[in-house]
Amino acid sequence: MQTGKIGVTTENIFPIIKKFLYSDHEIFLRELVSNAVDATTKIKVLSSLGDYKGELGDQTIHVKLDEEAKTLTISDHGVGMTADEVEKYINQIAFSGAEEFMSKHKLDAQNIIGHFGLGFFSAFMVAEKVEIVTKSYKEGSQAVHWECDGSPDYTLQDSNRETFGTDIVLHFTSEDAEIFANKTKIEELLKKYCSFLPVAIAFGKEQE
Ligand code: ADP
Ligand code: MG
Repeated sequence: MQTGKIGVTTENIFPIIKKFLYSDHEIFLRELVSNAVDATTKIKVLSSLGDYKGELGDQTIHVKLDEEAKTLTISDHGVGMTADEVEKYINQIAFSGAEEFMSKHKLDAQNIIGHFGLGFFSAFMVAEKVEIVTKSYKEGSQAVHWECDGSPDYTLQDSNRETFGTDIVLHFTSEDAEIFANKTKIEELLKKYCSFLPVAIAFGKEQE
C-alpha cells in the first residue's frame, strides 16, 4: 500500500472547499457524472479510432444509493485510470491557486468548478470519505483503490477489480446524508444536472 499527501499547499483544503462552495454543494453530482461521461466518451473515441480493440460492453453509467450505509456510488465503463494516472490527475491537483483565487475574487462555485481540476474534489463538499476503484482499459493495467478521508492524506493500493472503468464511492457526512441519502433528492439532482447527456444514466438503489 502506498500513502501520501495530495498536492495541495494548505494543510487542509477541504474545509475551505466546503465553506466557499457550500451554497452550491449539490453540484458534486454533476461533476462526478460528467467525469463518468467524459471517461465513457474517451473509450468510445479510442474504439472508433482502433486504439482500443476490445469490447465496449454496456456503457450505461450507474448511480447507486445505499440509504442505510449513506453511500452513493457512480460507476462507469469508461477508460479508467492507471495508478500513475490517479497519482497525476487526482493526487497532484493543481489547485493550490484555486483557494487564493476564490477568496480574492469572491467567486461562486459555478465559476470555479471545472477550472483548476476542482471538479472531482467537489465530492468533499458532501462526503467525509471518498473511494475510487478504477482499472484502466490499457492492457495489463493493475486495478487500484484510492481512498481519502477529507484530509490531504490518501491511500492507494491494488484492487482486484476485473473490468475496466471507475467506481466513485462517496460516504456522506452525517449532515449531508440527511439531504442526499435520499432517493427522491438524487432523482431530482439527476434530472436537474444530468439530463440530455450523451451516455445513459441509470439510478437504482444498491441491491445488497
Ligand atoms: P476535469 O474533469 O476538469 O479534468 P476533474 O477534477 O473533474 O477535472 O477530474 C480530474 C481528472 O481525473 C480528469 O481529467 C480525469 O483524468 C480523471 N478522472 C476523474 N474521474 C474519472 C473517471 N470517472 N474515469 C476516468 N478518469 C477520471
Ligand atoms: Mg470533471
